[in-house]
Amino acid sequence: MRKLLVPAFLAVIMTSCGTAKTASDVSSSQNSSAVKGDKTFVSAYKEIKAADLKKNLYVIASDEMEGRDTGSPGQKRAGEYMVNYYKNLGISFPKALGSYYQKVPSDFMKKRGGSNLPDSENILAFIEGSEKPDEVVVVSAHYDHVGMQNGVVYNGADDDGSGTVAVMEIAKAFQAAKKAGKGPKRSILFLHVTGEEHGLFGSEYYTDNPVFPLANTVVDLNIDMIGRDDPENRGKQYVYVIGSEMLSSQLKVINEEANKRTNNLELNYKYDDPNDPQRLYYRSDHYNFAKNNVPVAFFFDGIHEDYHKPTDDVEKIDYELLAKRTQLVFATAWEIANRPDRIIVDKK
Ligand SMILES: [Zn+2]
Repeated sequence: MRKLLVPAFLAVIMTSCGTAKTASDVSSSQNSSAVKGDKTFVSAYKEIKAADLKKNLYVIASDEMEGRDTGSPGQKRAGEYMVNYYKNLGISFPKALGSYYQKVPSDFMKKRGGSNLPDSENILAFIEGSEKPDEVVVVSAHYDHVGMQNGVVYNGADDDGSGTVAVMEIAKAFQAAKKAGKGPKRSILFLHVTGEEHGLFGSEYYTDNPVFPLANTVVDLNIDMIGRDDPENRGKQYVYVIGSEMLSSQLKVINEEANKRTNNLELNYKYDDPNDPQRLYYRSDHYNFAKNNVPVAFFFDGIHEDYHKPTDDVEKIDYELLAKRTQLVFATAWEIANRPDRIIVDKK
């Protein structure tokens, strides 16, 4: 999660013409659910396991990765681990890209204020849809963090190691379903972006240079920090959801139904307002999709005491809760990928 940089008074001016949307009464049940009574779905979502998330996070957020600063050797090591993981699962990259890596050039980041950042890479894994391969569901998380300061590693276990391993686990679940003969009808892009902490650079580069046309990009489900709780929700089974009714009247409903089918977490919409002083709608990678009219939902655990501190460590993650939130994102992605009709964009 990017630090809040815009002063509050300016934020008010910038967003004063936006209006908070009210809860939509449009039901996704107009469009019969893709998962009711689906045994493949149930066995796939049970592939998402706390122990596996933990195993991957202990690597991604280890000292060896040196805080995964954009373009650093530590970040590249984390990237290699992810690429090997996808290779071992038999999940390839988008053919048009030719590898798992999309280079994000130093110059691109410099022009946007990322002074002296070296070249870095987004990492893309891809499962092609069986019926509508040209329609693409994006599941994203940033894998960079803030690196080291004065020799101290900022491991970023929650920010955004948690989202990184969640995306890897969701890919594993889709691949398991595919092996059981029930691959997704629409394609799924597992998008690990770089440069988030310096200014959402990796996702901006992707949406400026999309591997699949944005017009065919159905949704971006973005995960940035889902392994902890914040002081006001201590011990609760919850997740903040942001942006899900900004562009499509169906997405929030689909996510709520997916939640009921899985772990019935408390969906907290406290920050789901572009005018909220924390401006979370603008502070992670989904925003680069939303500004291009692609519906988004952003999953988040809140601002906690270890946010952007060297104490954001693997021992403090609640792995059971991380698994439940990951299952929610998977269930939402499954529904959007498999339902008969593409979700609509009916709001501005
Ligand atoms: Zn952050």
